[in-house]
Amino acid sequence: MPTPKIGLSKSRITLFDQCPKRLWLTAHHPDLAEVDDGTRAAFADGHRVGEFACSLYPDGIMISAEAGLGKAVEETAALLSGGWDKPIFEATFAHEGVLVRVDILLPSGAGWHVAEVKNTTGVKDYHLGDLATQVWVMRGAGVPIATTAIRHLDRTFTLTREGDYTGLFTDTLLSAEIEPIIATRADIVASARSVLQGAEPDREMGPHCDAPFTCSFKSYCGRRLPPAPDWPVTILPDAKGKHLARQWLAQGVADLTLVPASAMPNAKLKRIHAATISGEAWHNRDAIRAEVADWAFPRTFLDFEAIQFAIPRWVGTRPFSQIPFQFSAHIEAVDGSIVHREFLSIDGKDPRRACAEALATLPGTGAVVAWSAGFERGCLTGLAALFPDLAPALISLADRLVDPLPVVRRHYYHRDMMGSWSLKNVLPTLDKTGYADLEEVKSGTDAQAGYLEAIDPSTSPERAAALRDSLLRYCKRDTEAMMIVLDALTR
Ligand code: SF4
Repeated sequence: MPTPKIGLSKSRITLFDQCPKRLWLTAHHPDLAEVDDGTRAAFADGHRVGEFACSLYPDGIMISAEAGLGKAVEETAALLSGGWDKPIFEATFAHEGVLVRVDILLPSGAGWHVAEVKNTTGVKDYHLGDLATQVWVMRGAGVPIATTAIRHLDRTFTLTREGDYTGLFTDTLLSAEIEPIIATRADIVASARSVLQGAEPDREMGPHCDAPFTCSFKSYCGRRLPPAPDWPVTILPDAKGKHLARQWLAQGVADLTLVPASAMPNAKLKRIHAATISGEAWHNRDAIRAEVADWAFPRTFLDFEAIQFAIPRWVGTRPFSQIPFQFSAHIEAVDGSIVHREFLSIDGKDPRRACAEALATLPGTGAVVAWSAGFERGCLTGLAALFPDLAPALISLADRLVDPLPVVRRHYYHRDMMGSWSLKNVLPTLDKTGYADLEEVKSGTDAQAGYLEAIDPSTSPERAAALRDSLLRYCKRDTEAMMIVLDALTR
């Protein structure tokens, strides 16, 4: 029976570059893929940025794939041979059975400028292979190419006027850099084709399963691996812990409880090892008390939620600016009484001014407690730079920040934390509720998705109200969690 001919494309060659088995599974068993929400969202973001880049050329033409890719190739060829001299989006070419759709093609002298659009602020290594495959196909199809570039977001761009995106994108020219990669394409294509026509390739799982992209076949490939031990060596933190884990894994030891205590190179790893073996938490209460003793009252436990947009949405923002849209603050007085304050904007307008004004009403004295406080410091100083009239209050909050994370990291470890001192890992070891009772919004990623849905004009008022409740409950839990953790560790 003849082998069915399976087409190759730029993205399939990228899959092959990552792992031949991934290409094979994508072509023969796409049903086995498990795509997580993060990957889906990243894909949608990339799509949005690509469409936006095209929209900046009102005189361009889009090659549709609705009537099939063969028709798209014909339509592109007809435009080029007819002397079309304006931008073309998704121009489609085929060579040696490999099909590529070029994000943006711009007339440039006697040839074309090829722009591959990426929603990043720079060029990544894996972008070069994408570009090289396109150029290889286009040359094979006889298209004159003047220059080739990755078109990415310019991190220095600031939206200064609504709707004016001039300068949002910048091209990094890579015409020379990709030549050696273009020279490998013919062999790569032949190898990829041979993989596709053969049986499922054997490939051990390894670091390539997460780089440059998390593979969607990890569950499938991992199905025959022995079940992970309860306390894997991979939980060991920091560079030393990761190095040690690799060494023991290479010797076939995946269970931390089978590693001798004498192998632990420093006090921190020794404590983690001992707590894991014994089940007894490492807890130096006196040291924690001593370190937080001078955190003055009233103590303001503060937590932000923020969002980033690849394409700046509001005047004064840049690609991927951190935009705080929510905070929770629990204020603990010296007598133990607690007041809760919060802010959340879901009206779809720039939330920064209102957020800064609400922050400016927080106590002007006492410690400001934030877990991994660098993020809160960045939000506060960013807002202070934007609103000079509120800067004294915001800078005062930033100057009074204290961070429980390094204190807890030095003096507390419970084996259920699995090598992580994130608030979400620490809290359940001290309080049985943790975050388990929250619905819908349970993480920072959920909060961003909830915020985006809530500000979407197509979201119903009832749904927006439900999202608002979930967002408020989640952020409030983060500041409650800090208080519970600090109390439990010092009481
Ligand atoms: S999980 Fe790893 S080994 Fe399996 S297909 Fe994906 S990249 Fe290849």
